[in-house]
Amino acid sequence: MIKTGDQHLNQLKDGRVVYIGDEKINDVTIHPAFKNAAKTVAKLYDIKHQNKYKNELTFEENGELFSSWFLQAKNKNDLRKRSVAHKIIADQTSGMMGRSMDHVASFVTGMSTNPDIFDTGKYKFKKNLLNYYNHMKSNDIFTSYAVVPPQAARNPEFYQKQNLPIPTLSVIDENDEGVVISGMKMLATSAVFANEIWIGNLVPLAPDQIKQSITCAIPCNIKGLSLWMRQPLSTHYDNQFDSPLSWNLDETDVLVMCENVLVPWDKIFVMDDAILAREIYIKTPAHCYGNHQANVRYWSKMELITGLCNKVAKATGADQVPAVKETLGKMSSMEANLSGMIHGQIEAAESWPKDHITFNRRMMYAALNWCTENYTTIIDELRTLCGGGVFQMPASINVVKNKKLKKEFETYFQTPQMDATSRMKLFKLAWDVVGSEFAGRQQQYEKFYAGASFIIKNHSYRETPWDYFDGVVDNVMDKYDPPKQN
Ligand SMILES: Cc1cc2nc3c(=O)[nH]c(=O)nc-3n(C[C@H](O)[C@H](O)[C@H](O)COP(=O)(O)OP(=O)(O)OC[C@H]3O[C@@H](n4cnc5c(N)ncnc54)[C@H](O)[C@@H]3O)c2cc1C
Repeated sequence: MIKTGDQHLNQLKDGRVVYIGDEKINDVTIHPAFKNAAKTVAKLYDIKHQNKYKNELTFEENGELFSSWFLQAKNKNDLRKRSVAHKIIADQTSGMMGRSMDHVASFVTGMSTNPDIFDTGKYKFKKNLLNYYNHMKSNDIFTSYAVVPPQAARNPEFYQKQNLPIPTLSVIDENDEGVVISGMKMLATSAVFANEIWIGNLVPLAPDQIKQSITCAIPCNIKGLSLWMRQPLSTHYDNQFDSPLSWNLDETDVLVMCENVLVPWDKIFVMDDAILAREIYIKTPAHCYGNHQANVRYWSKMELITGLCNKVAKATGADQVPAVKETLGKMSSMEANLSGMIHGQIEAAESWPKDHITFNRRMMYAALNWCTENYTTIIDELRTLCGGGVFQMPASINVVKNKKLKKEFETYFQTPQMDATSRMKLFKLAWDVVGSEFAGRQQQYEKFYAGASFIIKNHSYRETPWDYFDGVVDNVMDKYDPPKQN
């Protein structure tokens, strides 16, 4: 099945507990902090029903349509289809919604292609994982995830010594119905707009942290769950012109708080196994499928930023300065770098797992590292091109509501290159990419969404065929010897 936007919005009216500070939100689809972004999410569901996108965004199985991110890839065309679907979704938000519904769905689909790993000596959870994949696919479920323990709370000794509860989400009890979990997970982006949350551990756990290794899925309205929202980003404005992206693309980040949440046994995927809790992501194509989506999503953003650099340079009249042309050439080459890394992941796909094919792992991690390392530079190039133009603009386009101010605005703010309103429109958009609170959150997101940078580099290290590279060096060195003694 493929959902409509309205069906999804109705599902969000489910009694979920969301707090902004001490304010309890009754309905996230109508609250001012969330309603515009909720409509954006709904649109992402609606476009699947449009003839223009239907072929790319869906696939057919036994006469039924499903979203393309649930496709288990058997050949390169399947990988291409997945990739194109991610790009269409990301293009709707210029890559500003990182955790759209195709992100975690891709992780779970990746796992479903290699599910044997979920059956261990003690627990047989393969069936649970496959059922969950089918549940997501059949009901077009939007799942977000919380897979990192809360910051600075990763040392249990500190809490034990003071007889305090350990804040990290752990299993505290189990019974015939399921297991009881309590504690926090660091963040779940998009959970406010999702149906369910995947709880797990993408960062390695110490072998004795077995009670924290619980990996499960919970509906967003389950009893005992509350979602603590950070400062909303869209409420500072009264129109989209002044804040084109903040207005309807704040995907939200919440701290996940569980208080005696009962998770039924059939929604548990890993239990009491600190090693397996992380291996399910990297010994299946989960990380690869999910982070290919992240690479493609960043590419959409890179296209917007490249275009903005060019338009801003034209607006300031600097576009013909040789040094500025060089900057534009650099931005263009960076965009092409990423595009190449994304296409390469398909062309150099790996035949893995059995009977399936997966995006090239090393290229995916290389792109992830490239994205994380370069975002600050990329934004800074646009910031530099903007100069002070962003602050020359009036606080609000509401200036045109006043006849006298409108006349002055249109007369004095025009330039040889542009009329006043078009110029303001461009610079307000540029500011929402480089300088607004929304832009600041995006910068933090791009630095950390896949883990801190040392974690990403460690993924690359792990996947590298070092023997091969050592052999390349040996081949060169084998061609010469120390000079023979006379
Ligand atoms: C906007 C945003 C959205 C997010 N969304 C989600 C989400 O949807 N789901 C989810 O599960 N998580 C999410 N996260 C959390 C994210 O996964 C973590 O921020 C990330 O894993 C880094 O962990 P940390 O923030 O605790 O940083 P820390 O691990 O505390 O690191 C802080 C700094 O210290 C450095 N550092 C720490 N240890 C080392 C070391 N050993 N070697 C070198 N440097 C080190 C890091 O490089 C970093 O610069 C989100 C984060 C952000 C910012």
